Amino acid sequence: MSKVKKKIKTIRIDVDKCNGCRSCEMICSSFHANPQYSSNNPARSRIRVIRDPHKDIYVPVYAGEYTESECSGRDKYTINGKEYDECAFCRASCPSRSEFKEPDSGLPLKCDMCESDPTLEKPLCVQWCLADALIYEEREEEVEEDVKQEEIEVGLESMVDKYGLQKILDTVARMKKKD
Ligand code: SF4
Ligand code: SF4
Repeated sequence: MSKVKKKIKTIRIDVDKCNGCRSCEMICSSFHANPQYSSNNPARSRIRVIRDPHKDIYVPVYAGEYTESECSGRDKYTINGKEYDECAFCRASCPSRSEFKEPDSGLPLKCDMCESDPTLEKPLCVQWCLADALIYEEREEEVEEDVKQEEIEVGLESMVDKYGLQKILDTVARMKKKD
């Protein structure tokens, strides 16, 4: 089976260095504003900083996947004697909380590593973090080509959920006739 190269982008978070300044939230929301840079509103940011200055808690969390249903339980962490709020580290845009939802439309937000053309040298939140709490790293990994097959299956499943299997089959049959 042949292998393909895949670029893995990572932002390493050094919680001990974060001072809760929220510059990362500002630049992210501003970059994603429409028109771009026309406003900044942390509620639109794809990174949120959990802040509790009385406990000296500052934890940047990136927006991850959207989930339709909330978990059936909650998690709560205590680290080095500091107790964090329920679901504090979760990256999901989830019905049970307000984080990672576009405030006007309610649509889920997800970090896109600042996808743009031309490509940014580093994600903007990393560039704006003067405390060096966010460190950008890239690496290449060789993966089996059939990973792509899995991606196709995931894409097809979501289309079937949205349009129904029969409609997808009819469309494929129509496309085949045109060949
Ligand atoms: S910009 Fe850096 S130091 Fe400021 S809140 Fe964000 S991660 Fe923390
Ligand atoms: S990487 Fe870009 S899109 Fe993701 S949180 Fe940082 S500024 Fe926002």
